[in-house]
Amino acid sequence: MTIWTCAACAIEHADTEQPPSTCEICSDDRQFVPAAGQRWTTRAELAAAGHRGVVNELEPDLYAVDVAPELGIGQRGLLLRTSGGNLLWEPPGFIDDDMVSTLRELGGVDVISASHPHLTGASIQWSHAFDKAPVLVASADRQWIRRPDEVIELWHGTREVLPGVTFAQCGGHFAGSSIAHWQAGADGRGALLTGDTIAIGADRMSVNVMRSYVNKIPLPERAVRRILTSIEPYSYDRLYGAFGTIDTNAAALVDSSVHRYIAWVRGDVPDEPDI
Ligand SMILES: [Zn+2]
Ligand SMILES: [Zn+2]
Repeated sequence: MTIWTCAACAIEHADTEQPPSTCEICSDDRQFVPAAGQRWTTRAELAAAGHRGVVNELEPDLYAVDVAPELGIGQRGLLLRTSGGNLLWEPPGFIDDDMVSTLRELGGVDVISASHPHLTGASIQWSHAFDKAPVLVASADRQWIRRPDEVIELWHGTREVLPGVTFAQCGGHFAGSSIAHWQAGADGRGALLTGDTIAIGADRMSVNVMRSYVNKIPLPERAVRRILTSIEPYSYDRLYGAFGTIDTNAAALVDSSVHRYIAWVRGDVPDEPDI
């Protein structure tokens, strides 16, 4: 049996003789099937193609876990260390023995989760490499589980997963889209790990929230306000998205850019002059 990985999104699928006919993640209106069509790959094929892990410290106790050359959606995985255990957030879609030993040297992995189904990568393979660490999945997104396994634990609402690390379900991009608040991050000023629940703009000074980023499908105002309400209890100065970081003043930038978003979806903006 083979663990099939979608070559486009790098999400592992159930062990079967033959790969599935379609990737439900890529066929959904939030993603896309590449023009060349659906293709499947395997861990051995990815290793033979030269993929490897690259781990870099971002700040004390937080490490980027990347794959080079870039794989799938290209997100950055994060290893967050606490005194009570470590979280692997947005697990990469590729894993090998070198990555496992590097993360072991950093204290290992005790809990695994992703901000939403697009960034679940090889979460079950990561769990099995680390003594079956639990993989937390928001129950609202259980239909998107591609590789069912006993290590998956459903959750909803809010949950303190490690000392000083709390998950909050925000919805929006997916019903179960969530963030992780890290109280000790940014020298104690707090940090949010947001993935695509709150995405960083190309200007690195704003954020946006969308049903689909690649197909440009917006969210209704009520969903945007729910995201703001969900993160309201948490103080933070830094924000780690799926692809980048807002180093400082992140809470104010989230507030201003999300309210700008609401103004545009409501139409509370000046009319363009007639042409
Ligand atoms: Zn896919
Ligand atoms: Zn996404």
